[in-house]
Amino acid sequence: VATAADAASLGKAIMIFALPDVKMILLTVAVFVPLEWLFSLHREQKLFRKWWKTDITYLTLNVIPISAGINIILFVVILLAAQVMPKSLGDWVGSQPVWLQVPAMILLADLGFYSVHRMFHAVPFLWKFHAVHHSIEEMDWLAAHRVHPLDQICTKGASLIPVFALGFSPLSIGIFMTIYHWQSLLIHSNTRLRFGFLEYILATPRFHHWHHAKDAAAHDKNFAGQFAWLDILFGTLHMPNRMPDNYGTNMPMPESYFAQIAKPVRQLLGRPNPQTNL
Ligand SMILES: [Zn+2]
Ligand SMILES: [Zn+2]
Repeated sequence: VATAADAASLGKAIMIFALPDVKMILLTVAVFVPLEWLFSLHREQKLFRKWWKTDITYLTLNVIPISAGINIILFVVILLAAQVMPKSLGDWVGSQPVWLQVPAMILLADLGFYSVHRMFHAVPFLWKFHAVHHSIEEMDWLAAHRVHPLDQICTKGASLIPVFALGFSPLSIGIFMTIYHWQSLLIHSNTRLRFGFLEYILATPRFHHWHHAKDAAAHDKNFAGQFAWLDILFGTLHMPNRMPDNYGTNMPMPESYFAQIAKPVRQLLGRPNPQTNL
């Protein structure tokens, strides 16, 4: 059985994600701004489109509440796993080749993501929080960051619990986290990039753009974050052979970061914002 010291050191390792990572933000801008310019899907969409300032706030500030929540969840998970999981199981998982660990991790993580994401669509109380993400009307890499912290803590937490509990090696976890990060930005990006038959295996822009489409036929479809085939398996795939024209919901949403974060909480307390009535 792993010791509490192992758990504490892993806990510390996770804390690295707690503050805005300026280098990563600059790298992301350097990759996606040219990519969306070269392979632009909705060409009329401006770089500084509606609500870009709100989404910059998400990009820079949201990591703080999200990391805090996820760190608490993972710290508990790691401590519990250290108590109940035989050390030999963790050693066996961590000693598998990286090419096997990474897809296994994506599968376990995405099963968690799929279930919690689907729950956020199905349960009215949770939808109030997830509606913030679905308020995106112009898709791009920046809009990917518009997620209510409680929503992100739950979906990302569900993805990361098996990743951190089962003893995967630090190198494999690093590769997994890198794929997770770039794939989630790519699938929201304003790009017309197509991936042939891979679009039925992996989550791609076409797959996730349809998740955000305004069409009624597209509602509550394409829940996976990384493996599109999970939606085929569970009968929730909706992916016409073109990209959607319109995105979003008919639910009104205030513009500022803090008003969006507060909105579902205000709704639950029955105390709408006196200025916006939202
Ligand atoms: Zn959704
Ligand atoms: Zn999305």
